Amino acid sequence: MKPLLGCFPVLFFVLALSGPADAQQNWDEVNVEAHPVVGNIYMLTGSGGNIGVSVGDDGILIIDDQYAPLADKIKSALRGLHAGPLKFVLNTHFHGDHVGGNPIFGLEATIIAHTNVRKRVSTPQQRGVQTIPAMVEEGWPVITFDEEVSVHFNGEEIRLVHMPGAHTDNDSYVHFTGSDVVHMGDTFFNGRFPFVDLRSGGTVDGLIHNIAGVLELIGPDTRVIPGHGDLGGRADLQSYHGMLVATTEAVRAMMAEGKTLDEIKAAGLPDEWSGYASDFVPEARWIETIFNSYGSAE
Ligand SMILES: [Zn+2]
Repeated sequence: MKPLLGCFPVLFFVLALSGPADAQQNWDEVNVEAHPVVGNIYMLTGSGGNIGVSVGDDGILIIDDQYAPLADKIKSALRGLHAGPLKFVLNTHFHGDHVGGNPIFGLEATIIAHTNVRKRVSTPQQRGVQTIPAMVEEGWPVITFDEEVSVHFNGEEIRLVHMPGAHTDNDSYVHFTGSDVVHMGDTFFNGRFPFVDLRSGGTVDGLIHNIAGVLELIGPDTRVIPGHGDLGGRADLQSYHGMLVATTEAVRAMMAEGKTLDEIKAAGLPDEWSGYASDFVPEARWIETIFNSYGSAE
């Protein structure tokens, strides 16, 4: 599988500048590709969050839909997998690189997401000094839930389960119970430090505990689709969880000694975690996220 580092600059652009990325991104250069996961489950990559796909006799179900300008390419990739109609779109959370295609796919399919996804996409959202306008109504989830919901589709139960206070206040993982596949949304950046959206209800503590809960749920052979990065397995999620725990403990130990954020950044994290740094979330940004998440909670 080719590296998906290309996702991160786009994500950074959208999250950091929060403007309409559509005008800046050259969508013509983006290839939407389908990668087999197992059986009738696929993962689509393009630009933005990884898309999960179920195809079969009941039709097509997708998890997240990247950006609206990529909708035709996504549709074309889906047609390459199956001739059936798109029936459901599940959203893992509200960020634009995961729900941007909602206004287009919502015209033909039923969108399902946590209650707070609908709340956030249907109202203006503040990001820094900028305001992101509400999404057009066609893109809003029409079925919402607070804790979990199941879709019985293509011969298996597909569970959409809320993870409170993790990457945002509206994350869910999607568990294909028969296929033994889980899509983590942005609670999992495979091999990278995470982005935690503290302004939208995310917390580092919640992220760690929710990942631990999923690790208890899944088995040794479960395939794990991350929000960003390569398709992984249980061992990848376990390693990522270990990194979250160790780096958070390291930062909190320095906080307990009374060190300032600048002093902690200067000291840095143990070298063994340096490989998790990315352009989008370098070590200093991850330290700052931990500092702010625990600092505001104590
Ligand atoms: Zn996100």
